[in-house]
Amino acid sequence: MKKLLTGNEAVAEGIIESGTEVVCGYPGTPSTEVIQTLLPKAKELGIHIEWSVNEKVASEIATAASWAGKRAIVTMKMSGLNVASDSLCSIIYSGCRGGLVIYVVDDPGVSAGMVEQDSRYYAKLGVAPMLDISSQQESLDFVKLAFEVSEKIKGPVFLRSTASISHVASDVKIGKRVELKREAHFERDISKYTKPKASWCMNQHQDSLTRLNEASKIVDSRVNQVHLEGKYGVIVSGAAWENFQEAVNRYNLKLSWLKIGIVNPLPDEKIKEFLKDIDKLLVLEELEPFIEAEVMRISFLSGKKIDILGKFDGTLSMMGSYSFKEIKKSLEALLKVKLESEQNSEIIKRAEELEVKRPTSFCIGCPHRGTYYAINKAIKKLKYKKKDIIVTGDIGCTILGMNKPFETCWTEVAMGASIGLAQGFKWAGIEKPVLATIGDSTFFHAGIPPLINAVYQNVSLTIIILDNGWTAMTGFQENPGTIPLKDTNPMRIDIVEVCKGCGAKDISVIDPYHLKESIDVIAEAIEHPGVSVVVSRRECALQSRRRKVNLPKLKVNPDKCTGCRVCLSSLACPAMIFHPKDKKGLMEITSSCNGCGLCKDVCPEEAIEVIKDAV
Ligand code: SF4
Ligand code: SF4
Repeated sequence: MKKLLTGNEAVAEGIIESGTEVVCGYPGTPSTEVIQTLLPKAKELGIHIEWSVNEKVASEIATAASWAGKRAIVTMKMSGLNVASDSLCSIIYSGCRGGLVIYVVDDPGVSAGMVEQDSRYYAKLGVAPMLDISSQQESLDFVKLAFEVSEKIKGPVFLRSTASISHVASDVKIGKRVELKREAHFERDISKYTKPKASWCMNQHQDSLTRLNEASKIVDSRVNQVHLEGKYGVIVSGAAWENFQEAVNRYNLKLSWLKIGIVNPLPDEKIKEFLKDIDKLLVLEELEPFIEAEVMRISFLSGKKIDILGKFDGTLSMMGSYSFKEIKKSLEALLKVKLESEQNSEIIKRAEELEVKRPTSFCIGCPHRGTYYAINKAIKKLKYKKKDIIVTGDIGCTILGMNKPFETCWTEVAMGASIGLAQGFKWAGIEKPVLATIGDSTFFHAGIPPLINAVYQNVSLTIIILDNGWTAMTGFQENPGTIPLKDTNPMRIDIVEVCKGCGAKDISVIDPYHLKESIDVIAEAIEHPGVSVVVSRRECALQSRRRKVNLPKLKVNPDKCTGCRVCLSSLACPAMIFHPKDKKGLMEITSSCNGCGLCKDVCPEEAIEVIKDAV
């Protein structure tokens, strides 16, 4: 049977079909939908699925489950692999018992912010096999294969995808679920599971190297395909495969190709054999020249002179995902021919006309709008210029405070980094106040150690934790601070109590829908010597509305409105529309208003009123 599935949904299906019993991860675009798809089925499947507090913790949970004999998988985006790598590099040395798969999705072309990191290098660094997914069908098939390989070699296997596969749907042939139901059992073996002795460590390293070779033998003929047809050749891997195939079929190209499905270790012998028949080669892989450099090494050692096109000669870019157009262009360079364009320029022109460019803004009623407005006003109240006060930003919805009209945040580095960076600015000698802003999920993920450091080092800074109770940016996943939900999340970890436990003494809680009080409290916190924490607490407006916590909507009184647009320019709420009319113009609040009341507070004419009984 076939189903229309995105790459991530196909991975979820592969997890079910493989008999996996423990699934962990941290939400991160472009990998989120694997757990998102599985979570509602957890009870029916009778397996453990969780959003863990961060990727390192998720990896450790999956590992111990595998050490106890179960099949387990951990999912993450590329930046998450940086967090998980500290544990994973050690785990890989120890190997595993039940199949252990690490699913990571890279984002060439930056569909969701953050770096264009090429995670293939982690497989090399960690000494673990990595399968590279090139289609939605492989997203399912390679999960099963990865578990099979992992159990045969007794070591973890990386499974890497990219956003253009994980987020795009295609027909996928699905199979049947294997129910393993293994007994959990773990035997003490300190030479395998600990690393205090150099000899144990080096033996474990040797085991990892041996496992790499075994993995290569198992999968070679199953994931690496060769087609020989002449002296022009293409080595292709990952997401570039689909567009390459389309170009070959569309233009009826006569060339040889080698499709690589395992990128660590690379199939050296197969590449060597392939190169024997090739005079001119194109290496098609997104991001870094990971395969291309190795192909150059293999060709050099084999003594065969081949003209190699790729990143090193500038034929292809190290940035972005490869469109059909770019792949076609690189094939033209390889074959020295002009391939006909079938694009309809009229359609492209029309598409460009229809494109609407909108700044990324907070959602209607978002409490972060109130927090950033209050931060800016507090800075002004203390008679500082906004351009003089450094406000570090963090990952998630909260970083939208860098955009107009607030333009509050100055930096974005990594989960939790706002609090560490703020400390560095102070120790560098910035005398004026420094503020750090961070969301609740990000705080739980990686904000606690830098808070403890700030308290311990007694640095003077203000940390604003924007606690909307959800991991909202990636699709409203729960986190330890989410309000208690009957089935999945019975208790809430209170951020205020966590901050107290970290030693913070000056902690205030504000409601960002109450602007005046919020401005006063933030101003006081900025003036406090040492670490001050302000928890700005109000549930994400969209989740709140979904849970039927509705607030009265608002309207503009046309008799009072002067058309000054202060409300719009200070808050940029998408529920507001300005109608230029006569000289004055008129502001309108549409029915999508979420009733946060912020615009009512900022209107100098008191022209915005609550619609009584309207929710
Ligand atoms: S701030 Fe008040 S007076 Fe000015 S446009 Fe908005 S509703 Fe009208
Ligand atoms: S009350 Fe005002 S600021 Fe809040 S959602 Fe409605 S229109 Fe937007």
